[in-house]
Amino acid sequence: MSTLLIRNIDAVVTCDKEDSMPRGVDLLCVDGIIQRIGKDLESQLKKPASGQPAPSIDRVIDASGMIAYPGLVNAHHHLYQVFSRNLPEVQNLELFDWLVALYEVWKNLTEETERLASLTAMGELMKNGCTTVFDHHYVFPANGGDLIGAQWEAATRLGIRMHFSRGSMDRSRKDGGLPPDSVVQTVDEIMKDSVRLIEKYQDPSFGSMKRIALAPCSPFSVSEDLLRESARLARDYHVRLHTHLCETKDEENYTLEKVGLRPLAYMEKLGWVGGDVWYAHGIHFNTQELQLLAQTGTGVCHCPVSNMKLSSGIARIPEMLAMGIPVGLGVDGSASNDGSNLLEELRVAYLLHRLNSSDKAPSGYDVLKMATMGSARLLGRDQEIGSLEEGKCADLFLVSSSRLELVGALFDPKSVLGTVGLKGAVDYTIVNGEVTVENGRLAKVDEEKLTAQANAQDRIYLGR
Ligand SMILES: [Zn+2]
Repeated sequence: MSTLLIRNIDAVVTCDKEDSMPRGVDLLCVDGIIQRIGKDLESQLKKPASGQPAPSIDRVIDASGMIAYPGLVNAHHHLYQVFSRNLPEVQNLELFDWLVALYEVWKNLTEETERLASLTAMGELMKNGCTTVFDHHYVFPANGGDLIGAQWEAATRLGIRMHFSRGSMDRSRKDGGLPPDSVVQTVDEIMKDSVRLIEKYQDPSFGSMKRIALAPCSPFSVSEDLLRESARLARDYHVRLHTHLCETKDEENYTLEKVGLRPLAYMEKLGWVGGDVWYAHGIHFNTQELQLLAQTGTGVCHCPVSNMKLSSGIARIPEMLAMGIPVGLGVDGSASNDGSNLLEELRVAYLLHRLNSSDKAPSGYDVLKMATMGSARLLGRDQEIGSLEEGKCADLFLVSSSRLELVGALFDPKSVLGTVGLKGAVDYTIVNGEVTVENGRLAKVDEEKLTAQANAQDRIYLGR
């Protein structure tokens, strides 16, 4: 049994249904689960009920003057892209041209590049309060090796909760798609490998550290067959479905021209709506389509930084929230974000919708809930993660209130991360009851060594 006691937390922003925020409490984690949140747990543990042995506490964290938040859940990423950031030649491009240019870099992806990029990107996420990451991986070069295995090695080493995906592309340039031939596969190859990976990485147990979704890349890089077969296989194995949808007007024009349907109508025809489906971006839905998402419980992962960077548009998030559509938050790939920081995404989301929707915009606290319970719901894990409640997983982060940057800003701890933002890493990130970030540094890996190795590998990968 492993136990962690976090003592004397100034405020616990629980993000539970009652929006409760107990003050001056302790939080006890036993074997990765929050066993109790309450006052003075330490003295109660020292004096157990008669006949009961006193539980031994493996570790105590003094959280005086700190605020605890539920761990952030990143619902859309492409970890490998951390090695193709800020490349001058793609900075003024929009999605389709940007993808065509970057596939020339990404087609050289290898296991070692994937491993180090994953360590780097997930390390940055964790230093900024993220405890669960979903990665949408869809580039599988012919000689790339075991890329999902490399991600798993990185996640295990860092201690993060990981949702993988078996992404896919089967439509290369010769079939009217965007990627080169060397990174696409046949439907049969993809289905066979999907079964292999589901059997290896889908752990449906409560509090599991690994799950997997099926995630063809986008309607314009995969065939109708691949979308239909992926939906069928996902339902057979009870795993979730994910893809990019309604990111750009170019995509809408593409499906109208090729199949005579708007993107969501096309996906609906192939079985791609329901409570087990979530889309990245969801910018260009019309009102009727938003109603379909609400009726079917189909979710949307909002990625505002990427949408701004690629001039894709602004998702109708205030309306989606008002209609009860499941909405979470993600950073998207680091090539269209140029970072891997969900806390930053939270503040950008807050400001973008203030600009676009004024008093209809979500509050700072609403965007925090989007990045916690909202994203947890997209991953099908809202009973396990996303809020700090007894019986849920011990995934959280702690922020000291004695920071110069937070002076005068802490009258509303629920909203502060959205409205003010956090400059610099969090103090602690705890995943599954384990300390993974301590005093703003990764606890399980040597950051200097990782940075040097990752920089060296990036130079080899980019050949520059
Ligand atoms: Zn993406």
